Amino acid sequence: MKALEEKILKEGIVKEGNVLKVDNFLNHQIDVAFLDQMGAEFRKLFHEKKVTKILTIEASGIGVAVMTSKHFDYVPVVFAKKSKTSNISDELYHTKIHSYTHQKTNDVVVSKQYLNKDDHVLIVDDFLANGCAMLGLINLVHQAGAKVEGVGIVIEKGYQEGGAKIRELGYHLESLAIIESMNDQTCEITFRK
Ligand code: 5GP
Repeated sequence: MKALEEKILKEGIVKEGNVLKVDNFLNHQIDVAFLDQMGAEFRKLFHEKKVTKILTIEASGIGVAVMTSKHFDYVPVVFAKKSKTSNISDELYHTKIHSYTHQKTNDVVVSKQYLNKDDHVLIVDDFLANGCAMLGLINLVHQAGAKVEGVGIVIEKGYQEGGAKIRELGYHLESLAIIESMNDQTCEITFRK
């Protein structure tokens, strides 16, 4: 998505530790009109899929998921929660996800009430790096016996392994922008063609 690449170049900040900050439109302040455009783009990319739910993980995925839902006839959005307790409960699907940006492992849960075997799920998130978040979300969908219809990512860091892992597993993955390289000294960012 050309407009996204341009926005990343204009507003993105490359931080030490291989982290791209896009707080200006995605991770702190939300550019609602722009997220709406991204939602429309996901609809185009996954137009042939049957989608009954959109799944993401709190917090940064929620805005994208909600705006994407608007373009899928307002199907419900479910966001996986980072659990404060590690209580195993019969009412919840559980998984563990290592957070790339916070360098800690979270217990992540979804209530069984909101995901079931009849669901066709589009998973969306803001970033794809090593793939831990996405593999965790896929695992939750499988626990529910539901089907992963596709994976939609706003920004894939293509030089990390997540994208290759998800594609090798056979999932339909679409990223609106794929970063080929970024440099925290020069702030230079290049995209995959
Ligand atoms: P992964 O699990 O694929 O290694 O990392 C994806 C998760 O980490 C996303 O949910 C996202 O919130 C966060 N993340 C990974 N890399 C970046 C980054 O460069 N910038 C920001 N803002 N978040 C990132």
